[in-house]
Amino acid sequence: MNDVLMRWDGFLAQVRERFVQVMCEAHEGCPALLEQAGFDPTPMGNAWNAIEQRAQELGRKIEETWSSKVEAAFEAAGASPQQVQSERMKGDSLRHWMDLEREKARIGIYANAGRALFQRALAEMGKGLSCTSCGAPLAVPFTFRAQNVPCSHCRTVNGFEPGARIRMAEVCVHPLCEEASWEPWVAMIEAERAAKHAREATIHHLQHWERAQIVFWRAYLTKRAELLPDQAHAFESDLRGRMRAFYESMERESAWIRAGRPRALL
Ligand SMILES: [Zn+2]
Repeated sequence: MNDVLMRWDGFLAQVRERFVQVMCEAHEGCPALLEQAGFDPTPMGNAWNAIEQRAQELGRKIEETWSSKVEAAFEAAGASPQQVQSERMKGDSLRHWMDLEREKARIGIYANAGRALFQRALAEMGKGLSCTSCGAPLAVPFTFRAQNVPCSHCRTVNGFEPGARIRMAEVCVHPLCEEASWEPWVAMIEAERAAKHAREATIHHLQHWERAQIVFWRAYLTKRAELLPDQAHAFESDLRGRMRAFYESMERESAWIRAGRPRALL
């Protein structure tokens, strides 16, 4: 039993270490690739996709190793069903942690790329960034769309037209929104896990999950309206659109239906 336990713990530690290494490579390699490619985000994106696959394979390896060898080894060594279950959960928790860390890395890398692309594009625009009336430099807010920028010196309103580079950086809008809503996202995932791991999800589980969904989407869309100001007017209808899949999934939850479908968002 002790022997099986030691090997299982050793295996999990090894997977964790390998995963941390892969994430370190990503954090170092991706920004370097972006710069080497003259701020074209494509090679960085390809590199990240390969890294993401390696990280996901590590996660699958935990599951495969458990079900192909480890579970049977624990049973053969006389572990009780409770012991077997808690050892399985060790693997599950590691995998869940890896999933969150991988998401955090992807979001951080792409959000940083978005800021780098934006700064680079502004630097290249040079003269376009001074007031047409008095020539004072304009402070262009971090957005990806055309906008009116008032001069802080003479108050003249200048039209700002983002160039092709800034438009290219629009692929980074989604991760920038995810970055701004990271904590509500994690809370939402935890609420979902709590509902799904319960023997039977109660209305409290489901309403907690619903609230976490709404908080997450509000944070996400608030950032989106900041980066894409022309979308801000559609905030409330976007929020309902993003919640649609959740409410559809509630139609399969008997506790939700028994409680009379108590939607917080109509
Ligand atoms: Zn001015």
